[in-house]
Amino acid sequence: MCGIIGIENNNRAGALAVLGLMTLQHRGEESAGITISGKGALLTHKGMGLVSAVFARDVISSMPGTAAIGHVRYTTSSGSSLENAQPFYAKYEHGEIAVAHNGNITNFPKLRREFASKGALFAHSSDTEILLHLIAAAGGKPEHAVPAAVSRLEGAFSLVFLKGKTLIGARDADGFRPLILGKAGKSYILASESAAVEIIGGKCIREIKPCEIIIIENGKIKKSFLYKKPKKQNSCIFEQIYFSRPDSALFGKTVKESREELGRRLAKQMKHIKADIVMPVPDSGFFAAQGFSRESGIRFENGFVRNHYMGRSFIKPSQELRELAARLKLSVIKEVVKGKDIVVIDDSLVRGTTSRRIIRSLREAGANKIHLALSCPPVISPCYYGIDTPVKEQLISAQKTKEEIKKYLNADSVTFLSLDNLIKSCLGNAGGSPFCTACFTGKYPVKNKK
Ligand code: AMP
Repeated sequence: MCGIIGIENNNRAGALAVLGLMTLQHRGEESAGITISGKGALLTHKGMGLVSAVFARDVISSMPGTAAIGHVRYTTSSGSSLENAQPFYAKYEHGEIAVAHNGNITNFPKLRREFASKGALFAHSSDTEILLHLIAAAGGKPEHAVPAAVSRLEGAFSLVFLKGKTLIGARDADGFRPLILGKAGKSYILASESAAVEIIGGKCIREIKPCEIIIIENGKIKKSFLYKKPKKQNSCIFEQIYFSRPDSALFGKTVKESREELGRRLAKQMKHIKADIVMPVPDSGFFAAQGFSRESGIRFENGFVRNHYMGRSFIKPSQELRELAARLKLSVIKEVVKGKDIVVIDDSLVRGTTSRRIIRSLREAGANKIHLALSCPPVISPCYYGIDTPVKEQLISAQKTKEEIKKYLNADSVTFLSLDNLIKSCLGNAGGSPFCTACFTGKYPVKNKK
């Protein structure tokens, strides 16, 4: 998962892009970068780590300009290294261009082979680089080159480009990853989440549509069009479950509201369960636990303290480090849980590492019965569209039955929200099911090509 932002027609474009990236920091903590359109040239600064570290002190004040794009990265398909930090930049026949990408291009291996066989050189292992090759091959102005390039892509991509002072946005046919259009004064903004638009002083206008390309210049939308005929929308429902900020809005409601509804519906599914308290696994279980408490009448308590000083990135490298990180991340307040029957709410069960560790800590702290409730269905299939879910062999729900999971976690009961309840909770005003739920069903809207 990644976060992207673009802002144009603003003397403080660089500083606003930094603030926007800080708002999107939860979408990627491995690297951060900004490209600014300065006097006649694009200037990029990027580095490994948090936005506050990469843009420490006065880095951004030394990069004046009126348009900028930015990126925070959370590795999915390719390696975590500075070489893959975005935005990516290239010079082609029609000048300089930079791009920042959220998602996974599923036909990247095929496209890369096609270009490599013609002698193209690759400086990165990330799928995003192929876009620059496609743009150079298409040639011409961005109005021509961007649609020609993106219509060759398959999979998940929300994109922001910078070409001179022109900001360009594009979204894939399924609308897997969000991309929001906003406005602050005379400047347009494109961002992965509505909260990023609002926190930097803008108002949200709408989502960029699946298959849409938008070209913005000097505070005006120069052109907005569909590069191909859209089909059924398949937006990632994990945005509401886990990824997006609670103060961002998707499908006509805030993520907070969706999560509260997830909790209310979980409580209805668990009417037979008696407990003294309901506790969230912070932070992502918070609003679901609140909804659960309101629906069930079971008292809401905070029994965990979360260490906010360790990043998600730390959880990646190995199983051993993941276990240690889970222990470091959350500690239990004994007085809250001792002798109690507890409903513990987390957003998801992936490998089972977090829940197993949490239940062990709760038992050590003297909890009586522990009912684990997950505000989504069992994750049984990996994501090919930009979320870092492990291979099937590591997904606990793909490998064990519910009874085996309960035993493995040492819980008194384990309840997953049903798929139907999940979709209904997140729907807002949208009709049908505009969601990709492949991680819960194994039914993929777009094939993953090798
Ligand atoms: P696990 O410990 O492998 O079962 O992972 C489940 C925990 O990781 C839950 O507490 C989630 O909040 C969190 N989580 C879910 N999906 C992701 C993801 N794609 N990347 C990082 N953390 C995640």
